[in-house]
Amino acid sequence: VYYVADEINTIDPFIAASHDVLGAECDRCYRWLAHKFFRKDSSQKTGYSPRCVVCESEKSMTIAEHTARLHERNNSSHATKAQRHDDQDEFRKTYARRGRVMHTSDVLLKVRRHVPNLYVLEGGIKGDLALYLTEDQPQPKWVGKNYLYLGYIAYDWLPEFSLYEFDDNRDVMIRESERGWRTVLLQFIKQGVLTEQQCDKEFGKPSSAGSSVWYKRLQQYRTSKEVADSDGVN
Ligand SMILES: [Zn+2]
Repeated sequence: VYYVADEINTIDPFIAASHDVLGAECDRCYRWLAHKFFRKDSSQKTGYSPRCVVCESEKSMTIAEHTARLHERNNSSHATKAQRHDDQDEFRKTYARRGRVMHTSDVLLKVRRHVPNLYVLEGGIKGDLALYLTEDQPQPKWVGKNYLYLGYIAYDWLPEFSLYEFDDNRDVMIRESERGWRTVLLQFIKQGVLTEQQCDKEFGKPSSAGSSVWYKRLQQYRTSKEVADSDGVN
């Protein structure tokens, strides 16, 4: 499943008709794209790489995802292993936290209305999608890369808020068992990808019974503006 920037995804008939001058077909994704989506390469007859910048980035995107997920897994195991979590009683409300179930395709469709350069690759773990922002040019704010890894989402029906597995003997949370779509939205808000207003407009207000941690995390974010999650448990 691929969702790409509207501009990169739209076949421009003018470009397609006069590709010698204005654009080319990527030899991997077969899209007709303007030349700005290709790296200049003097060893090529055309003067451009045969592969578009997004396709050229995919290998390093995969590595970026892998690194981020290891990091996230370590963080969350640290956060959940040690002791009772402050919000543990809230996380126990599995029925309330399941809330309004949505399919990933609907979630991403809504997000893309506000984030046209959202790019989705099959994730490193089966059934997961890896989410990126992409640009046609390398970005200084992304340390010279033309993509930013945002996180992952299962391709499935998703609970509204993430669900967690408990060790009932020790009365502690063990790990996230299902990632909620609002957990992904919260990451987007913290990363500056979506605003709270855009979220409300597309997704409405949270289902009330399971929403207390959501509001707490939003409040923490508004106060601190910290991009990094305190412990990744939402
Ligand atoms: Zn391509």
